Amino acid sequence: MNNDYFSMYLHPWDLIDEGAEKVMNTMSEMGLSHINIATSYHCGRYILPHNPKKLVYFAEEGVIYFEPLSEFFTNTKLKPRRSQKYIDYDVLKIATEYAKSYDLRVNSWTVCLHNYELVRQNPDVAVQDPFGNIDENFMCPNNPDARRYITGLVCNLASSYDLDFIQLESVAFPWGLQHFDHHETFGVYVHPILSYLYSTCYCQHCEAKAKEYGINLSAAKNKAREIISEIMNVSPDLYPGIPESDVASSLYEYLMFNETMRHLAEFKSYTSLDMLQEIRENVRSFNKKVRISIISGATMWLNEGFNFEKISKIIDAIDYICYFENPRRIENYVKSLKNMINKKCMIIPSIRTNYPINYTKENLSMSIKSAINGGADGIALYNYGWTPKTIFSWIKTIINELKTNQ
Ligand SMILES: [Zn+2]
Repeated sequence: MNNDYFSMYLHPWDLIDEGAEKVMNTMSEMGLSHINIATSYHCGRYILPHNPKKLVYFAEEGVIYFEPLSEFFTNTKLKPRRSQKYIDYDVLKIATEYAKSYDLRVNSWTVCLHNYELVRQNPDVAVQDPFGNIDENFMCPNNPDARRYITGLVCNLASSYDLDFIQLESVAFPWGLQHFDHHETFGVYVHPILSYLYSTCYCQHCEAKAKEYGINLSAAKNKAREIISEIMNVSPDLYPGIPESDVASSLYEYLMFNETMRHLAEFKSYTSLDMLQEIRENVRSFNKKVRISIISGATMWLNEGFNFEKISKIIDAIDYICYFENPRRIENYVKSLKNMINKKCMIIPSIRTNYPINYTKENLSMSIKSAINGGADGIALYNYGWTPKTIFSWIKTIINELKTNQ
């Protein structure tokens, strides 16, 4: 790594509440090169230790934080929903304008298919499970309206703002069955195979798409129901009673040797590749310079359906979520990813800079250095609003040290 790509995730409310000048100055002081500002984002409830307006914040569900152009959404029934709390601000315009004075580049952190409000208004665009019920939080990557909405959103960003990267989060299948949804609680052990089968879509658009790839999704759906029934009917003390690694290895055995699971894995990888190709091609017609990355994670990419080797040939970077307390885990995950992908595609591990992952200077420093040892091409820090100010000074010291020893 050249030690010159350091980004930090930033929520729109922190930029507006603290003031763009102050935030940019703090980011620049830390030695960062890039800001990942959320432009399309989901709900959440957060503690904001240094926000001058609120300590606890409820973020809105499924909204965007810039002024959209309707011409990008004429071929889809899905229309972008603007934040009501920050309706008076084009947050991205403010970020890109102020960033220039501080020599910072801006990336658009873009949540794509994960959107409860759009699904609530249009249930037919949702991911459908093997029993025909919908995921109320997630749109299907093969649904034509959803696909055109995401393409329109990304093209709007690429044509209207001066961005380095457009970072795509939730751009394929769901991350898994568990999603920390509002009051989400499960009384049974969530087997990774169950999670895998529930983060696949079996809707009519997926069935048609699978057919094009020579895959019979109806047959896979029936098999999925059988597998789910078997998993749900074991004794409740079986899975919790064996080591997690045994349970995890059964997913890999299924993916390697079970025909249905192999077909599903192929279908998911074709879909995610197709989605990214369509976005890439459309974006090029508006902006040839902007780079595209995906935000995925060490424990979630399999459910999302990415084939990293294939997608790394058409995207510029993988923002790789590595929220682990143990720095060696970060190093190992980065190293493994490095071996899988095209060398032109950057690996930018995301490191948490706050409790409960990294809340000591030593561990934060070791985590960043381990990511670099693993072969990282840049570092992303997560995130500005949640991180106490004291940790900003640690980040400054760590980045400074890395740049000095370059
Ligand atoms: Zn579908």
